[in-house]
Amino acid sequence: MLDSQRRQAIATEILVVGAGLAGLAAALAFAEAGFETILCGAPERLANGRTVALLDGSMRFFERLGLRAEIERRGAPLKGLRLIDDADSLWRAPTVEFRAGEIGLEAFGWNVENAALIEALAADAARRARLTLIGRRVSAYEWDQGRALAHCDDGRTIAALLVVAADGRDSPARLAADIPIRTHRLPQTALTTILSHRRPHQDFSTEFHTRSGPFTLVPLPPAEGEAHRSSLVWVMTHSAARRRMALDDGNLAAEIEAQAQSIHGAMRIAGGRGAFPLVAQTARRLTAPRLALIGDAAHVAPPIGAQGLNLGLRDAAHLIEAAAQAKAIGADIGGAAALARYEARRRGDVMTRAAAVNALNLSLIAGLTPLHMLRGAGLAALNAFGPLRRLVMREGVEPHLFA
Ligand SMILES: Cc1cc2nc3c(=O)[nH]c(=O)nc-3n(C[C@H](O)[C@H](O)[C@H](O)COP(=O)(O)OP(=O)(O)OC[C@H]3O[C@@H](n4cnc5c(N)ncnc54)[C@H](O)[C@@H]3O)c2cc1C
Repeated sequence: MLDSQRRQAIATEILVVGAGLAGLAAALAFAEAGFETILCGAPERLANGRTVALLDGSMRFFERLGLRAEIERRGAPLKGLRLIDDADSLWRAPTVEFRAGEIGLEAFGWNVENAALIEALAADAARRARLTLIGRRVSAYEWDQGRALAHCDDGRTIAALLVVAADGRDSPARLAADIPIRTHRLPQTALTTILSHRRPHQDFSTEFHTRSGPFTLVPLPPAEGEAHRSSLVWVMTHSAARRRMALDDGNLAAEIEAQAQSIHGAMRIAGGRGAFPLVAQTARRLTAPRLALIGDAAHVAPPIGAQGLNLGLRDAAHLIEAAAQAKAIGADIGGAAALARYEARRRGDVMTRAAAVNALNLSLIAGLTPLHMLRGAGLAALNAFGPLRRLVMREGVEPHLFA
């Protein structure tokens, strides 16, 4: 880089790259914590039927940003979770119900459409102090000793003490820093859509465990002319997903209602559709000099048990904590010590969540009787033992083990 370019670079403490959900949330939280922050990237509002269940820990993250009420307004509370064994095994496990009240919570979390959440975060980002938005992509990086340099596709250069890569599963920043990844492509696709249905969901999320993966109906708030709505994440084989994506709305709704055993009555497709081939992926390291990975850039889990963004928000919270500790003692916020602290805090949480999601998925699709029996025994134990059920519920919404 030429010296003149270096002199004209825009200096900042934090550069967050990627204006997806993890990047927007991280940028807001860094600014709220007092860091001069730039966010590069353009928010996308896609109508692909996707929603995120924000668990209690994530709701508290947004509460600290003053955004909880806005998210509650746009979402629906998840007061209960019902697991139904529909795996056609020799022994059918009992249906298990968890209620948030059992662990003293009003709700496990709130389910909100991705597009609505992006809109709420982007609106807040536009009026935050200490946060500058640059709606362009970063096209190249230089990892200098004192500052990282990010070159935007409009010719601007940003010089940051710390680059926070929230640039998704194919993360160009991760690639530029030569961080290897471990990727496992699963034999399944998640079909997503929004449904309007005859009967109320009563704030219960219902998950059917089928041989091709979970089929999950998650509550949404009413919309104009639609009193009862849910989002669907239906995990199935790639070929079944191709066939169902080609169905017209009426036939797809009929197949969904049949799989749902009509628990919500007649159904109608009331939103866009999406099909997402499942991938389990983790970066071998979460950091490199002046760089920290968060969100899908760091780890991608199949959409089972609502882990993805919830993990990404915990990444952001721990990274901010490490940077704030460094700043408080006058140390380098993008230096080796702060990054090592972040890496150490996040490893256990990321690895245990990924392992748990993969184990549950495998126990459904492996076609092995011992695994089916183990899963069934696990569900039966959860049904029978209150303390175990409460431990699992607490760990589900806000992990304490390994986090
Ligand atoms: C079907 C499905 C259901 C899910 N349900 C849940 C759930 O209930 N709860 C939950 O917690 N998680 C859920 N997830 C996971 C969650 O949606 C993801 O983990 C989360 O959206 C990832 O956000 P992200 O910001 O890390 O990545 P992304 O959404 O991929 O955003 C990355 C952004 O970076 C931008 N970008 C890339 N390169 C650059 C560049 N060079 N310069 C600037 N910008 C760049 C991209 O354009 C994009 O906007 C689900 C996932 C799926 C597939």
